[in-house]
Amino acid sequence: MTSLTDPFGRKIEYVRLSVTDRCDLRCFYCIPQQFKGFEEPEQWLSFPEIERVITAFADLGVEKIRITGGEPLVRKNLPELAQRLSAIAGINDLSLSTNAVQLARHAKALHLANVSRINVSLDSLDPQRFKHITNGGKLDKVLSGLMAAKAAGFHPIKINMVVMRGVNDDEVQEMVNFCIQHDFTLRFIETMPMGDTGRDAINHYLSLDVVKRQLQQQFELIPGVMPGGGPARYMQVAGTDLKIGFITPISQHFCETCNRVRISVDGTLYLCLGQDDKLELRPLLRDGADHEAIKQAIIEAIARKPERHEFREKPEQVVRIMSITGG
Ligand code: SAM
Repeated sequence: MTSLTDPFGRKIEYVRLSVTDRCDLRCFYCIPQQFKGFEEPEQWLSFPEIERVITAFADLGVEKIRITGGEPLVRKNLPELAQRLSAIAGINDLSLSTNAVQLARHAKALHLANVSRINVSLDSLDPQRFKHITNGGKLDKVLSGLMAAKAAGFHPIKINMVVMRGVNDDEVQEMVNFCIQHDFTLRFIETMPMGDTGRDAINHYLSLDVVKRQLQQQFELIPGVMPGGGPARYMQVAGTDLKIGFITPISQHFCETCNRVRISVDGTLYLCLGQDDKLELRPLLRDGADHEAIKQAIIEAIARKPERHEFREKPEQVVRIMSITGG
């Protein structure tokens, strides 16, 4: 089987697939309040089109797919798509990133559809603060979604918290306790300058080194590993089962281990989160390209994968918000 290796020797075996650019929350650092740039439904890849693209990637050695967005649960019939993707030969790890607002309704169906792992974004455990960060979100829905995911049998469940100075950095310890209590894995993420919203939020940027040092005053952290842990560097809280991942795109980038590409809802293959290099797959799919032609186009695109993002050096560079790229 051909495999996808980029010019820097990195094997590409992971696709993050955005199934919508819309979201039922408006986190202030992600989608602008009055955002008008959403794709029209006719530009969205249909389920059969998504299946064709993912089959091509699977034939090229990709084994891992993460469904993301926007908020994936706002796309109709998502469990059906998950079922179809998990049935593709070669795909052996299907996971989902969600804000969990609608997870209580869908958790069981997603589990039955072979979604094996779930990541939930949660920046605050305080209902008022959560509402403020997400522009109106209801924390109790997210908590119900999390409990439903646990009851449905998902394990591990990872909580993703973007830690922002002056916004939620005083909640780090509480989040640790919450995750110990519920047997969740916790990952802290640094704010990235994606789009105007992300760039504005950089005022709240906090290096996770600071967070780690703060935690070390309360907890003994020992180096840990997490299978499928991606770019996070994991520490275990001694005396507990809790693993904490630190995702540090700004303070310590991890591009040399990058093994992924992203597909947006309109079928754009983005080769790097922080660069504009891309391949438009939708015209190929809709203009009659066959399976081999799609595979060839993907191989040629991977040959153009940038070495690294430049969030630090050129924070003004990225125009796409995370919700468009597929976070
Ligand atoms: N809706 C799903 C969710 O909430 O996980 C998936 C998409 S969301 C865009 C993916 C992740 O991107 C979330 O954890 C969110 O906090 C993060 N994100 C969005 N904009 C960001 C930024 N500028 N810097 C860091 N993380 C960001």
